[in-house]
Amino acid sequence: MTTPTSDAPALTSHAPEWARRRSFAIISHPDAGKTTLTETLLLSAGAIRLAGQVRARGENRRTQSDWMKIEQERGISVSASVMTFEHRALLFNLLDTPGHEDFSEDTYRTLTAADSAIMVLDAAKGVEPRTLKLVEVCRLRDIPIVTFINKMDREALDPVDLLEDIQDKLALDTVPMQWPSGSGNRFKGVLDLKTRELVGYQKPSDDRDPTEASPRWALEGDEILEHISAEEQAELDEGAEVASELCPAFKMQSFLEGHMTPVFFGSALRGFGVRELLDGLADIIPGPAAMPAIRNGQAVELEPGGKEVAGFVFKVQANMDPNHRDRVAFVRLCSGVFKRGMKLKTEAGKQLTVSSPILFFAQDREIADEAFAGDVMGVPNHGTLRVGDSLSESGKLRFSGIPNFAPEILRRARLADPLKAKHLKKALESLAEEGVTQLFRPTLGGDFIVGAVGALQIDVMRERVAAEYGLEVDFEPAPYDTARWLSGDRVKIEEFADRHKSAMAEDINGDPVFLAKSAWEVSYSEEKFPDLTFHRAKERS
Ligand code: GDP
Repeated sequence: MTTPTSDAPALTSHAPEWARRRSFAIISHPDAGKTTLTETLLLSAGAIRLAGQVRARGENRRTQSDWMKIEQERGISVSASVMTFEHRALLFNLLDTPGHEDFSEDTYRTLTAADSAIMVLDAAKGVEPRTLKLVEVCRLRDIPIVTFINKMDREALDPVDLLEDIQDKLALDTVPMQWPSGSGNRFKGVLDLKTRELVGYQKPSDDRDPTEASPRWALEGDEILEHISAEEQAELDEGAEVASELCPAFKMQSFLEGHMTPVFFGSALRGFGVRELLDGLADIIPGPAAMPAIRNGQAVELEPGGKEVAGFVFKVQANMDPNHRDRVAFVRLCSGVFKRGMKLKTEAGKQLTVSSPILFFAQDREIADEAFAGDVMGVPNHGTLRVGDSLSESGKLRFSGIPNFAPEILRRARLADPLKAKHLKKALESLAEEGVTQLFRPTLGGDFIVGAVGALQIDVMRERVAAEYGLEVDFEPAPYDTARWLSGDRVKIEEFADRHKSAMAEDINGDPVFLAKSAWEVSYSEEKFPDLTFHRAKERS
């Protein structure tokens, strides 16, 4: 097995700031341990502390109070959507993805701002349905995936079965970095396959700090027998052999292209294996790469070290206070060195001066004087910025690849008071711009159709329309099952639209959408109109 560190990108003291950035997200099926791992990673990196979670970073009262002022003046409440921490001279931006599965659309979009992902699997369950879906999204951009098999302190599946499960279900080549010694009550730790040392697992006790380094023993020799039996030692030796026979050697290029996943084992809850994971991340996950974009109609690759400051909005968080209409747009910077007070433009020509950009540290936020490619900054605005917007100095750049996903729930919005139709339009448009729900205007009939990937999105929308706009709206079932964005020859689209008038709509950007009664109807239409493409996901254009 080759060592991943040998061909990892080197970081010298002369390296530019952007080269220190590592932006990643954690993906998992609910309950696999994403939240627990997030917390343990932050603890291990010293970004938060257990007792009272005191900040490890130096206090900066000025920036702290600056932030508080904005928060108070504008009433914005920003949850920790991004958490920044340092480890081994690198600056990690952990992009938080909402835990509830109904907000998966938000999760998908957050992944467009990450340069890599950690896939957390429950050791007793392997690959679960939500994992599959999320990996599909990672594939849209082929971002590298690191696997963490969690909950080894409980009875787990056989490691070989787990690796095969990943290979079969996700078509990813697996390369174990470690081999576990037992699981559950018999869990003794993991063998580091590079150094052939056992990283020993110690049963939890009240006075043990979960971030403390675990003891290590060389696999060969007698010392290890203080911790495991001779039989377990032999089993581990055999495990290492199985790993090298079964799995290919780690190849950085394959990993970076998203075909190969290094696999770590541990227990997030017990803080075991998380340090090793963090070191593994520092060794192999990539910094910001060139991003495809369009400049003046020409496809370009925007380099992180490029001159022009440019980025895109992958999330907008509105303030829940009805007296304010302020929002924070989360902008992933892709090139240039941003300076506080800079003027940036959207591709639609809207200009804004970014005077209070926010950077997010694990327990804190700061007004940023500078930000670099790979960083995520919060930009407070009055509704100028939408999910999917590109921001740049020239206003001539457009990033592609922020998807909207085919809604699985479609509802007709019915007002209790029809005289308030104009208000309703504004409210629904605003929520669609924020990316909370999608909005479709049917060609025939006056009611709006709203779409969501999960039912909870509809509940949030109902509450917000009532609280922020004072509107009582019924979201009644619509006779559609799903939606597909159409692309292809214009004449053909018109022909299709003509035949399906009652099922056609426009989305918020005026693009044609087919509202289908069933998945079967989609396949049938695809067969009948082979020249048209029926998209499940739409990239903002
Ligand atoms: P999420 O839904 O993926 O964010 O999962 P959580 O982090 O909330 O964890 C779900 C449940 O699994 C919680 O009860 C955790 O305490 C538990 N859990 C997480 N990691 C571990 C682990 O390593 N070992 C065990 N035994 N339980 C864990």
